[in-house]
Amino acid sequence: MSKARVLLVEDDPIQARETEAILQQTGYEVLWAQDGINAIKLVKSSKPDIILLDLILPGLDGYEVCRWLKLDESAKSIPVIMLTVKKDLSDKISGLHIGADDYLPKPYNELELNARIYASLRTKSLQDELRQKNKQLEELLDKVNYMAITDALTGLYNRRKFQDTLSGEFERAKRYKTPFSLIMLDIDLFKRINDNYGHSAGDAVLKEVSTLITKSVREIDTASRFGGEEFMVILPSTDIVSARVVAERMRESIAAFTFPEITGSITASLGIAGMPDENIRNEDKLIRCADIALYRAKQNGRNRTETASGAELKNEM
Ligand code: GH3
Ligand code: MG
Ligand code: MG
Ligand code: MG
Repeated sequence: MSKARVLLVEDDPIQARETEAILQQTGYEVLWAQDGINAIKLVKSSKPDIILLDLILPGLDGYEVCRWLKLDESAKSIPVIMLTVKKDLSDKISGLHIGADDYLPKPYNELELNARIYASLRTKSLQDELRQKNKQLEELLDKVNYMAITDALTGLYNRRKFQDTLSGEFERAKRYKTPFSLIMLDIDLFKRINDNYGHSAGDAVLKEVSTLITKSVREIDTASRFGGEEFMVILPSTDIVSARVVAERMRESIAAFTFPEITGSITASLGIAGMPDENIRNEDKLIRCADIALYRAKQNGRNRTETASGAELKNEM
């Protein structure tokens, strides 16, 4: 371990030399500043581990230096021990109030000085360790949150996130009477791709289709993997007519893409449903409606986009 670096801010050279000798003997590296401005400069240039700060200094006094240190992002975690001949309680309180970590009345003896420095450095290292652990925990939490809403294969949102987003959008559409649309996309004859080229080729195709979907939609749209080779896109503030434009763009980009894993092309069928629709009472009915549209697209020959309205649900429960 390298020596801890102590910055001693003391205007009296005799006092400074005395304290420096004690500190060096204990094994600290000592930097000395004779006034506040030089103290701040040294903090910036030399990153001390701890600062012994005399209260009475020419120019900027110890309070002002301390206030500056505690407002500075890179300096504020360095412990500050205030040194002063004043024994007055109010000085002590104002010193601690502006952020000094400890307080040492002069004249101090060697033992007391070393004990205070040791305690402050230990507190600092515990705080650093805690900060580091918190950071790791936060990163872990971010990762867990990410995993909870993401489909592992494609990196799109997963079904759970889709359901949450759809509920939110449905509520909003009901309250503000704003339109929104849902596109359901299913890859055509995907089973054959697995059968002919193997499951991992199938997986690669799913990823590539996901990328094509993402490229076709706006930032505010939510693209997700609903399951297997089925995808959902939620388009806020978009009526069915505009959603069809997006769906067709998606369909065409898939049909035109050269998938490196296979010979020939891949196509997809898409079904669209949207709000407002007086016959669609909840999110599940909207999904059902998109599913009816998708089924129609398959029935009508695949590689096409169809729409369905809530009126077609009338015979269903
Ligand atoms: P259709 O045009 O009617 O949709 O035909 P299809 O073959 O796409 O439909 P079907 O639902 O019969 O087949 C879907 C296939 O998707 C079956 C299943 O093995 C495959 N599949 C589902 N999930 C995955 C996956 O994560 N990876 C791979 N490689 N295949 C998957
Ligand atoms: Mg002084
Ligand atoms: Mg399919
Ligand atoms: Mg399917």
